[in-house]
Amino acid sequence: MRISEKLKKQKRVFSFEFYPPKKEEDIPFLKAAVAELKGLSPDFVSITQSPSSLSGLSFASLSNTLALSGVLKHEFSLEVMAHLTCITLKDRETLDEAVKLMRILGLENVLALRGDRAGGGLEKPFFSRAWELAAELNGRGIFDIAAACYPEKHPEAQSLEADIDNLKRKMDCGAAFAITQLFLDNISYFSFREKCLSRGVTIPLIPGIMPVTGVSQLANFAERIKVKIPAGLSAALEKLSPGGAEPGPDARAAIREFGVSYAAAQCLELLKNGAPGIHFYTLNRSKATAAVLNLVKRGLGII
Ligand code: FAD
Repeated sequence: MRISEKLKKQKRVFSFEFYPPKKEEDIPFLKAAVAELKGLSPDFVSITQSPSSLSGLSFASLSNTLALSGVLKHEFSLEVMAHLTCITLKDRETLDEAVKLMRILGLENVLALRGDRAGGGLEKPFFSRAWELAAELNGRGIFDIAAACYPEKHPEAQSLEADIDNLKRKMDCGAAFAITQLFLDNISYFSFREKCLSRGVTIPLIPGIMPVTGVSQLANFAERIKVKIPAGLSAALEKLSPGGAEPGPDARAAIREFGVSYAAAQCLELLKNGAPGIHFYTLNRSKATAAVLNLVKRGLGII
């Protein structure tokens, strides 16, 4: 089913993001995560596509994503959205093959992205911007198309306004909804949503949330994707892990517990203030995400 149809029919949608395992040893973690999170009846799951997920570029990483998408759709009966990145598409023929494969697998939902260059990628891809890929896919009339958006601005964008205009372009080229980069301060989302509306972006913006499970994990993300860490969150983590010291088992458990309640409070505030759902960045693990979603559902009175 098209995700935009679900967004129209339902008050909210919950979804999980997984990535194709990079090593064979990682497969059991993914399987366990999918098995547990499937029990929470997600509205859809999404599968990332990264050039670094296999040493060969181009179609190799795409087929990895599509293979996992097929397994989750047909073996686990989950609604799947495959990520498709410009930086792995070298020519129109590669896109044609990808589209053919997606049709064979019965995939109806695609997240059209430029792709993260930090992971590698083609120097001269066929499309250089996500809106070009969205327009091309839209022209084929087969898929429900989503886009990425950035409440705290994409690091390469000249300004937040220019980035929102880029999102508007993706919407005009066929994106029916967008999923945000993760953020830790809800003010970023609420203010972004307002600015989007004032610049003509009318599609649903699904917040992307990741429960904090470790201090170094958070520091890495903050550095890589330039997410702001609110002062209250830093102070709380500093108390649990003074001076950023390597936490012992008790402190690690306390940080995880804190991270789960922080994310649950974030989600509840977002949903109570009109967010159309929550997309969880799971990192192929289930415990923290499941704990957050259970708290959220309880908070909403739906379990
Ligand atoms: P675009 O929308 O093309 O934007 C890229 C940059 O170019 C932005 O700064 C934009 O403002 C700017 N821009 C666009 N058009 C113009 C123009 N005409 N003039 C000037 N500037 C312009 N990466 C992966 O590799 N694989 C994944 O599976 C993946 N999944 C993601 C899922 C989500 C929900 C999100 C939020 C991100 C994901 N990413 C993924 C990361 C994403 O690919 C990177 O952030 C990438 O750098 C930008 O991708 P985009 O699709 O937003 O690009």
